Amino acid sequence: MKLTGKIHLLRLDFQISLNPNEKIDRFVNCIIIFGKKITLIDTGTKSSLLKIFNYIKENGRDISDIGTVILSHSHPDHIGSAAQIKNTTRCQILAHESEKNWIENIEIQNKERPVPGFYQLVDQPVKIDAFLEHDLEIQADENITMKIIHSPGHSRGSVNILFLEDRILFTADSIPVKNDIPNYDNFHDLVNSLDCIRTRRDYEILLTSWTPAITKPKDVEMFLDEGERYLKALDETVKNVYAGEESEPLDFCRKAIVQLKLPDFYINPIVDRAFKGHRI
Ligand SMILES: [Zn+2]
Repeated sequence: MKLTGKIHLLRLDFQISLNPNEKIDRFVNCIIIFGKKITLIDTGTKSSLLKIFNYIKENGRDISDIGTVILSHSHPDHIGSAAQIKNTTRCQILAHESEKNWIENIEIQNKERPVPGFYQLVDQPVKIDAFLEHDLEIQADENITMKIIHSPGHSRGSVNILFLEDRILFTADSIPVKNDIPNYDNFHDLVNSLDCIRTRRDYEILLTSWTPAITKPKDVEMFLDEGERYLKALDETVKNVYAGEESEPLDFCRKAIVQLKLPDFYINPIVDRAFKGHRI
């Protein structure tokens, strides 16, 4: 989808294998900026490579034009094709320093955050060439200035990207989507980051990793309200359930997910870890 002449949003579909017999469909967005050089924001999973390359070719450009890849954070559905893109184009890879461990060492990431079917989503680490810092401005092309906003919560080094001239904000996974898997690193930081997104007045179009572009102010407000309500509902339930000693691992997680009427496959160590963070 063309958002402006040069800024495009590309949807990348993929599947997560919960077990050998069960797969779920997901998608993640990446952003492609067609300047003199091409800048990519996020790279989908490892199966996204061909779609990204084909899209660039369909737009009359060459893969070797890719100069920069910005990774909003380290999760496998954002970094999955990064190593292959870097190997093919010799582009530079940018990410926040707090994501370094999990981007440059995917074994550690899989150990600490075992997403089902992890290696089907990402099978190669990639080296970060330079770190993204809060308030850093990067010129993607003439009149395309990207301002980096550190937005911790979903992960420690998650960044949002504000396109200053076009008044577009890309929030990656920072805004929880109603009933989607609660997979944040720090609940309290997530609430703060959501508040920062809500109070900004420097964007009109909102892009996320998990939704089509949200282009009307009323829809942006509704989406943020819904995310906030979802977090409040999670917090109320989790605070009630996560009290005292657990009889067996994931017992509290199971109770919370059942009470919230969320899908059974949310009962897992990643969600449990996110929920335990509410008590701190
Ligand atoms: Zn994520």
